[in-house]
Amino acid sequence: LSFKNFGLSDETLKAIEEKGYVEPTEIQRLVLPIALGTDKDIIAQAQTGTGKTAAFGIPILERIDFKSGKSIKALIVTPTRELALQIYEELKSLKGNRRIRIATVYGGQSMERQLKDLEKGVDIVVGTPGRLLDHINRKTMDLSNVQYLVLDEADRMLDMGFLDDVLEIIKQTPESKRTFLFSATMPKEIVNIARKFMKEYEHIST
Ligand code: AMP
Repeated sequence: LSFKNFGLSDETLKAIEEKGYVEPTEIQRLVLPIALGTDKDIIAQAQTGTGKTAAFGIPILERIDFKSGKSIKALIVTPTRELALQIYEELKSLKGNRRIRIATVYGGQSMERQLKDLEKGVDIVVGTPGRLLDHINRKTMDLSNVQYLVLDEADRMLDMGFLDDVLEIIKQTPESKRTFLFSATMPKEIVNIARKFMKEYEHIST
């Protein structure tokens, strides 16, 4: 199976080729058809290093209309700044030459820089729970137009004590959004988030 089987745009195929990805990883083979071909939410059990960033990143880049005005259209919530930066880099390379603005929002990074990015307008935000909630509370980040929400490493966010922050962030996004939840394990708190906040979903495990 090759990336050509998913009906991807030429821009995305070119970016994938430039990254040197020859064939999709297992999680990509399982997630991409559902993410690209249906409107269902997804819960995916996958470890780090399995290619999960592209599994959610490619569908976000393919399915969102990035020409539709100035608003945050996709939000990716991840436990650490290292992961936020990795996801940012992966999305930046997968977007290729498309005019899609991506910003990171994490603790320890200059607030001024984040405020400037948010003020100018960004399409995709990759952030950690505490700092995202900080922006929500200061009303410097509007999530009311989010079409795609990714909860990355949900079990790790739970272990780090971010559950309440994550729940608050979810509540700031519209019900119409689509949610992709990635977690290596499925403790009951994570299953409860899925039950409470997700629409009809497909459960994928590798
Ligand atoms: P991730 O699990 O998203 O952090 O990805 C782990 C590593 O695998 C990253 O260095 C990616 O660039 C790489 N990767 C992701 N998808 C593929 C693929 N289809 N083929 C080869 N490498 C990949």
